[in-house]
Amino acid sequence: MTDRRVWKLVRRPVGDIADGDLALTTEPLPALAEGQFLLSIRYLSLDPTNRIWMSDQEQYMAPVAIGAGMRGGVAGVVVASRKAGVAEGDVFGGLGEWADHIVSDGTGLSRLPTIPGIDLATVFGTLGLVGPTAYFGLLDIGQPKPGETLVVSAAAGGVGQVVGQIGKIKGCRVIGIAGGPDKCAFVVDELGFDACIDYKNTDVATELDQLAPGGVDIDFEQVGGTIMSTVLARMKLFGRVPLCGLISSYNDTVAHEPPAIWTMMLMRRLTVRGFIVTDFAPRFGDAAHELAGWMLAGKLKTRQDIRPGLDNALVAVRDLYTGGNFGKLLIEVTA
Ligand code: NDP
Repeated sequence: MTDRRVWKLVRRPVGDIADGDLALTTEPLPALAEGQFLLSIRYLSLDPTNRIWMSDQEQYMAPVAIGAGMRGGVAGVVVASRKAGVAEGDVFGGLGEWADHIVSDGTGLSRLPTIPGIDLATVFGTLGLVGPTAYFGLLDIGQPKPGETLVVSAAAGGVGQVVGQIGKIKGCRVIGIAGGPDKCAFVVDELGFDACIDYKNTDVATELDQLAPGGVDIDFEQVGGTIMSTVLARMKLFGRVPLCGLISSYNDTVAHEPPAIWTMMLMRRLTVRGFIVTDFAPRFGDAAHELAGWMLAGKLKTRQDIRPGLDNALVAVRDLYTGGNFGKLLIEVTA
């Protein structure tokens, strides 16, 4: 093993991510220094926030520098080590690069547990990434109570699937919003949501008025734009809004700030809290433990959308912004 392949950020996208914004390059692997190890990447996580990291907008981490390896969530196996306590065959996950190998001193990575009955893609993709987002966003911020009405947008996606099922475990009435009949059928028939609004083929406001005539207690918000405005207009007094994401605007070239949304926050005395899952990092182990327990008990199912080949990362990531993915999107870098 002398070379590695890595996607590098060539220029900052304007609007949608375009061919040529990133380039897949081959470069020599540096020799391991004392305290470093070489990770062979098995899975690369593609996440909506990748588009934010490619930009230089105000954000919660440093933007990826032009010419640098594209940042991404990775899970992999140690194939060489000069770090005490790290041996060949150890499995790590965390922040790395869109690459087939990374040299690391362990910063940003942690060991992934082996859980009988749960495969690595699920341990990494769901228990390690989107699961804690759903878990802390809903339980800590959403504060669900039995009988309450929970609306979750991007319902069939990685985070949304888990949010809705935790909502059901906590006794809520769960209404998903997703694009297309297949995704809606999946969250109702397979995951047990009470209802799902196909925002691409029906009018969200009309459907929501029928499904939740008394209003919405919790809006687990992942999309923003018109969908968010429509749900916020139907919030009950003192409703809660875990503000997880605003994917409908990630590719926008101009900022939007519709005043109507702020009016509803005031009129309905809403608690709106933006969060980034890493805010809860010290408690990730607790989340993974409880989520794994629900999975093994058959109460929590997840669907992964796993695409083969590092070469396909640039094409695949775009699907997140059009709904072309169906479940947590991962690249299988090595089989
Ligand atoms: P998903 O697997 O949900 O994929 C994104 C989905 O968003 C698409 O499949 C699509 O579903 C939907 N979508 C895309 N564009 C639009 C649009 N214009 N209008 C409505 N829906 C749209 O991704 P994740 O589960 O990884 O992430 C979901 C959200 O959670 C994102 O906003 C992301 O940024 C956020 N997030 C936040 C974290 C945090 O720490 N705060 C951590 C992880 C994710 P459909 O086919 O239904 O349209």
